[in-house]
Amino acid sequence: MTAAPPRQDAAAARARPERVLTGVPVAPGIAVGVAWLSAPGELSVPECPIAPDLVEGELQRFAEALALAQKQLRKLKTKAAQHPAAAAEELQVLLDARLQMLAGGRLVRGIEARIRDHLVNAEAAVRAEVGAIADSFAKMGDSYLAQRAADVREVGDRLVRALLRTPYQALQHMPAGSVLIAWDLTPSDTALLDPSRVGGLATAIGSRDSHTAIIARSLSLPAVVAVAEIVEVVEPGDLVIVDGTEGRVVINPTPETADLYAKRADDMARERLRLARIAKLPAVTRDGVAITLSANLELARDIPAALAAGAAGVGLLRTEMPVLNADALPDEDEQTRTLSEIVAGMNGRPVTIRTLDIGGDKLSAKLRRHLARELGSNENPALGVRGIRLGLARPEVLDTQLAAILRAGAHGSVRILLPMITSVTEVRAVRERLDRVARRLRRRGLAIANPLPPVGVMIEVPGAALAADALAMESDFFAIGTNDLTMYTLAIDRGNDGVAALYNPLHPAVLRLIQFTIQAGLRARRPVSVCGEIAGDPRYTSLLVGLGVHDLSMAPPSLPRVKERVRNLSARDAALRARQVMEEWDETAIAALLDSVD
Ligand code: PEP
Ligand code: MG
Repeated sequence: MTAAPPRQDAAAARARPERVLTGVPVAPGIAVGVAWLSAPGELSVPECPIAPDLVEGELQRFAEALALAQKQLRKLKTKAAQHPAAAAEELQVLLDARLQMLAGGRLVRGIEARIRDHLVNAEAAVRAEVGAIADSFAKMGDSYLAQRAADVREVGDRLVRALLRTPYQALQHMPAGSVLIAWDLTPSDTALLDPSRVGGLATAIGSRDSHTAIIARSLSLPAVVAVAEIVEVVEPGDLVIVDGTEGRVVINPTPETADLYAKRADDMARERLRLARIAKLPAVTRDGVAITLSANLELARDIPAALAAGAAGVGLLRTEMPVLNADALPDEDEQTRTLSEIVAGMNGRPVTIRTLDIGGDKLSAKLRRHLARELGSNENPALGVRGIRLGLARPEVLDTQLAAILRAGAHGSVRILLPMITSVTEVRAVRERLDRVARRLRRRGLAIANPLPPVGVMIEVPGAALAADALAMESDFFAIGTNDLTMYTLAIDRGNDGVAALYNPLHPAVLRLIQFTIQAGLRARRPVSVCGEIAGDPRYTSLLVGLGVHDLSMAPPSLPRVKERVRNLSARDAALRARQVMEEWDETAIAALLDSVD
C-alpha cells in the first residue's frame, strides 16, 4: 500500500467541485473528515534465476522472512485484541487463518520447492506459488473460494514485503478525524485501525458481508463499500463525507451540503442516545402489560448488539444462516460449540433455537448438490422439501442438530423451534427423535438440558395456522412467521420483485390467520410470539399487542423503537383498535387505521 499524509489544503480542496459517489451502505452513521488515502501500491519485486550454490542462502532468507511475517501477524493479533469484543473476535479468526497458512503447509512447502527445484530467488518463488494457489481457488468460480484466493495473495504480499524489508503503511498513525479511503482493507489493516482517530471509511470494493463491512459495523464506524471510483476521485486532503446510512460519499462538499450533513449527524447522534436510554427501560404498556421483546439472531457475533438493545432473549435463532455456504453440514461437536457460545453469551436469557430451515430460497448450489436425493425434483422449491420436511427426510441431520441443541442447553435456557410445520404428525415425529437423542446422549454421559427443552412450532403456512388448535395440543409454544405466512397465504414469492407490490401482511386473510393462531394458542395456554419482519416494525406493534401477542422477536436494531411504541400504547385501547381492524376487509382502510393509532 502507498499513502500520502493528509493535506489540509482547504483552499485547493475548495477549488474542486463537489462530487457525490454512491456505494453499498454497510455501517450506519455520518462521518466528516479529511481523506486519508490508502491505495495498494505496486511493490517493485526483483525476480531472477539463481545459481545452485545460492539455494541454501535463499532458503535461509525465506525462513527469516517467514519468521518476520509470523511475528508481525502475532503482533497484529495483540493489537486486534484491543478492539471492542465483536471486532476483536472477528479479527482473531482472520489473523489466525493467515498464521495457519504460514505454519508450514502447502504454501510454505511450495515456495521452498520452487527455490530449490526451479532455481529462482525467494521473491519469485513466493509470487509464483501464491499465484498458482490463488488461481486454482479462483477458477472454481465460488465466492467463498474467491475470498480464500484473496487471502492467499495478501499473505504472499506480506512475505514479499518481509523479504524486501518494506514495511506496511502504518494506519495507526492516521491523524485524528481522518476518513479512510481505500481500494479494500485487509484484516491486517483493520487490526491497526484506531477507531478513535478514524471517523469513517469508504472502499472501492466489498459487500455487506465483507470483512471490512463486518469490522466497520462492530467498531461503529460509518462505512460505504463498493464505491467504484472512490480511489481515483478522492485526493489526499480532500474534505469527505461518508454517509453510511444512505450509501453516499460526498467529496469536497459545498458549505450548504456540509451544513446539511452536520445537522443530520447531530440528529442521528441525539437519536442514538435516546434509543440507548430506551434500551434500559422495561417494555411495559401505559396500562401495565409487560411485553417480551427478544432478538432474532443468526450468529454469535450479533449477541452484543442484542444485549445492547435490551433483548430479553433470543426469540428466533436462524441456524441455517451460517451453513448456507458450506459444502456439508457441520458435525455434532461443531454445532454444539456454535450453539453453546450463543447460549452462554445470552447469560441465562432464553434462546429459541430453530432447527435448520434449509430449502426454498434458503439453499446454496453446494448444499443443493449435497442434498439432491432428499430435495426431489425441487422444481417448486418453496412448496418442496424445506425446513422440518428436510429434517425428517434426513433424520441423521435432524438428530445431529437436536443433539447439539440439547448439549448447548446444558449452558443455559434453550427452546426448540420447528420450521415449516404443517401437521401434528411432524411434531410427534420430532418429539420421538428428541427423546431418543436425549437417551443416547445420557448414555454417553454428556451434560444436556434438564428437563428437556420446550418444543414449539413456527406458524408460517396457512394450513398450520388453520390447524393451530390441534398443533397447540402437540407443541409447547407458537412462533408466528409472518414472512412466510404472508407469502404462502397470498401466493406471492418473497423474493420476486415482480409481485413485491402485492406482498402485504395487512391483507385481511393474513391477519385472520394470525388472529386464529393467537386465539388457539391463548385458549391452550401456549405462549405465542411473532418473529416475522412485522414484529420489528413499530407500525404493527399496537395491532399485535391488541390481538393478544405479548412476545415479539426482531432484528436487534429494531428493538428500541418497538419498545418505545410499547411504552406509549395502552393495551386496552390497542385491543379495541385491533377489533376495528379485524372488522375491516379493505387493505387500504386497514393501513389507514393502523397509521391513525396514537
Ligand atoms: C418467517 O417466515 O416469518 C420467519 C421468521 O422465518 P424466515 O424469515 O427465517 O423464513
Ligand atoms: Mg419462515
